[in-house]
Amino acid sequence: MTKEKQAIVLFYKYFSSSSSSSSSSSQAIERWWEDPKDNVRKLYMWHENNLSSSSPSSSSDKISSLPIGRIKRRHLPLVGRILISTEGISGTLSGSRKDIETTSSNIHDYDDTGNEDNDSSSTSRIFQDVDWKISYESSTSGQLFPDLKISIVKEIVSTSGLVNVNDIPLETGKHLSPEEFHEILELSSLSISLPSIQSHHQQQQQQQQQQTKEVVMIDVRNTFEHDIGHFVDPRTNMKAIDPETTTFSSFEKFCEQNANELRDKKVLMYCTGGIRCEKASVLLKRKGVEDVNQLSGGIHRYLEKYGNDGHFKGLNFTFDKRVAMKPNFATKSYEVVGRCVECSDPFDELCGSRVCTVCRDLVLICEKCRTRSKTLREFHCKRHAAWKSCYFSFLEIFDQSELEEQQRVLRILRDEASVERGNNKNVRRTLTRQINKAETRIREIKEDCHLIDPNAPRRCRSCQEQLGTVCDGKCWGFWKNAEVTSNDDDNSSKVGKIRMRGRRAKQKHEAEMEFLPESTPSTITMPVNGIQ
Ligand SMILES: [Zn+2]
Ligand SMILES: [Zn+2]
Ligand SMILES: [Zn+2]
Ligand SMILES: [Zn+2]
Repeated sequence: MTKEKQAIVLFYKYFSSSSSSSSSSSQAIERWWEDPKDNVRKLYMWHENNLSSSSPSSSSDKISSLPIGRIKRRHLPLVGRILISTEGISGTLSGSRKDIETTSSNIHDYDDTGNEDNDSSSTSRIFQDVDWKISYESSTSGQLFPDLKISIVKEIVSTSGLVNVNDIPLETGKHLSPEEFHEILELSSLSISLPSIQSHHQQQQQQQQQQTKEVVMIDVRNTFEHDIGHFVDPRTNMKAIDPETTTFSSFEKFCEQNANELRDKKVLMYCTGGIRCEKASVLLKRKGVEDVNQLSGGIHRYLEKYGNDGHFKGLNFTFDKRVAMKPNFATKSYEVVGRCVECSDPFDELCGSRVCTVCRDLVLICEKCRTRSKTLREFHCKRHAAWKSCYFSFLEIFDQSELEEQQRVLRILRDEASVERGNNKNVRRTLTRQINKAETRIREIKEDCHLIDPNAPRRCRSCQEQLGTVCDGKCWGFWKNAEVTSNDDDNSSKVGKIRMRGRRAKQKHEAEMEFLPESTPSTITMPVNGIQ
């Protein structure tokens, strides 16, 4: 079988209604807000039916027998993630070129009035001004997602309700095209290298003044995305600021803590496709930062324009099995900006089997360091580097004195967390839980010292199973292999139970129950599930 070229489409749309909005879909959006709950249900059902019926292999019988709710359809050609909410839609879909182009065009033509006539007024199309970002991939064998999941969520980008979708057009930052974004970076280097430029023309002078304002770039994405690729300021060679978030919901805290320093600066922010900046800029401006600008179309559109010759260095993380896209689709050559957290060697391969044992964030660990598996049984991310000697998920190899030493360090860290500024309640709770876990283990081995197993096999942080034999560590999120879990119901239900935990999973479940009371979702997805 020859490898078929796969197409991937990335899209989002906020249903912001605002008098100042010049959106060409404004009439459709007005209609959306007349009964948002019912419209979410309709949009969800439309996707359920339309995306599954685009498959030649699925008969109409099969479709009508589908239960309402999120289900796995592994044998259909389209895979990916779609999030639907009253505030909008966000999706990543992958399939054959033809299927992706047809599906994008069908979603584009979605008409909630039920009007099948394509010539009807374009104002009835809520998705008509969506920016469809299509790319092609030929080097990957197999599907880019284990399945297709269509989910109803409270927000397509989670801010715990802080940013209402209707605030976005009024409060969001200035949108810059890739060219404008690029230009500012180029000019900012000019203003430093040629400080003696004089101009008597008032307008030019004004422009120059604006340009001499310090330019600061903020990477709105998560740390693991930033680590393998980011913008670099050509003037200072400084990389964009990494707010060190694990999920977007902690971006607000970053704004709170840094607004004072950013207030008099020109802020350029960016994310993968633009969806996160829409809310990130609102959050930052609310803290009093005025000159906030965002890259329209995100890194995706910038790389299409500039590739290797621009100011984005390294890889563009994608929330699918490609993991990352190279900046230049043609030459595939690029600069490795990632660094191994252990030895600092250049390394940028993220993998679902390499996660922080504390927070489960993806971690960069080079192969050389991984082969030291006797000493490096569990990994720690940059944020948890200080926990390396004391926090482990699997305690079976340690004896009493080792566990007591871990407890001692854990208590010191907990005391430090108490005096540091900011809300460290969660940190202290995590440390306390670990201290208690070690305590329980000490009691166990006091009663039976044979429980200590210095040669215990390494285990998967996600499913707890033996690594290498039972699990390859890629049993979660989009890393998951569809065939393996579908044949092993016991294993997948165990994994499912682990995933049910967590605030975000719970919120998602609640949102689905609100809109689809009759649904019985079979799985709850992991945090990494298709944020653009
Ligand atoms: Zn963005
Ligand atoms: Zn290393
Ligand atoms: Zn961590
Ligand atoms: Zn596993």
